[in-house]
Amino acid sequence: MTSLDSTVAELAHRRAFDYDVVIVGGGPAGLCAGLYAARAKLTTLVIDKLIPGGQILNTELVEDYPGFESILGPELAAKMQAHAEKFGAQIVMDEVTGVRSEGPDGQVKVVQTVEREYRAKAVIITAGGSPVKGGWPGEKRLNARGVSYCAVCDGPFFQGKVLAVVGGGDAAVEEANFLTKYASKVYVIHRRDELRAQKILQERLFANPKAEVVWDTVPEEITGDPTVAGIKLRNVKSGERRTLDVGGVFVFIGFTPNSNILEGTSVERDAAGHILTNMYMETAEPGIYAAGDIRAQLARQVTTAVGDATTAAIAAEKYIEALNEKPIDPEPLEAAKLEAAVGAYS
Ligand code: NAP
Repeated sequence: MTSLDSTVAELAHRRAFDYDVVIVGGGPAGLCAGLYAARAKLTTLVIDKLIPGGQILNTELVEDYPGFESILGPELAAKMQAHAEKFGAQIVMDEVTGVRSEGPDGQVKVVQTVEREYRAKAVIITAGGSPVKGGWPGEKRLNARGVSYCAVCDGPFFQGKVLAVVGGGDAAVEEANFLTKYASKVYVIHRRDELRAQKILQERLFANPKAEVVWDTVPEEITGDPTVAGIKLRNVKSGERRTLDVGGVFVFIGFTPNSNILEGTSVERDAAGHILTNMYMETAEPGIYAAGDIRAQLARQVTTAVGDATTAAIAAEKYIEALNEKPIDPEPLEAAKLEAAVGAYS
């Protein structure tokens, strides 16, 4: 290869790709993937819709992240961001609206945002998801003041308290059982006369002396100031209203992964929209990885998110190494040759 050829090849590469890796989402998974990718000397961009940190920004205290016996959620988020940036990850605030593969073998990953397009060799999707909210009066005001969407995160703060869990699916029933470790009593508020959860989870709940299901009932308001003191309920069959005195309300009425941005790709998702990956966090589309809550998996914890993200970043690095050994996409190569030629005469 002559020096002109190598200059042309480098120009072509630069034209084809803005970054080695673009990470969609700046929660713990995204920031950890950013840290690993940047530390591996890959040019790395993390895109987050708002301030980086994801769900830990809504968590008052994190007590289950090794090395930090107790740390404020926003403080841990800031530390993760600073750590990723220290190794050179670039973080921008923008909203990703789609991801697609272009060029021969789909080797150019295009991340479309509201502002512009970013072209990368690999994309790691860590866009998380959101617990479905009930929308009841008091729910938003008392969020993190007794209203919670994560039993593992917040359960230990409710030692000896009476709690309400809203929902009748796997998450509600499993987490209600878990919460009885701490609470003196857990009411499960369910809108029908039958639970949706798997039978084995139901049996465990019914056998639990600290748990009681309140059937055919919906919340109407969560009360208390400055923290939760009660939940107003209405029986949907009889219309009867009553208030339960509770110290906390845990809401488990569904979880929506933010995976719609993958419409049009061959990335596979389960019925609820979680991304399916293999053990290397590879999706069905080469060069697209997923980590954290957006991925179909057993646990949705900060520790599992950063673990997934580590694997995804290392797998992406190996993918990029292999990609760099392949001949470059001829189209931009031609364009870059032209540019170089024009440059030489101007
Ligand atoms: P889910 O299965 O969709 O259950 C949501 C529950 O909330 C349902 O009982 C539903 O009632 C109720 N609900 C929905 N909207 C409501 C509202 N506005 N007011 C009151 N109640 C409402 O959601 P999930 O339990 O979060 O589970 C999500 C997915 O994760 C599922 O696929 C689940 O299998 C999986 N998961 C699995 C495990 C496990 O295997 N151990 C644990 C957790 C989650 P209806 O029943 O009347 O619709």
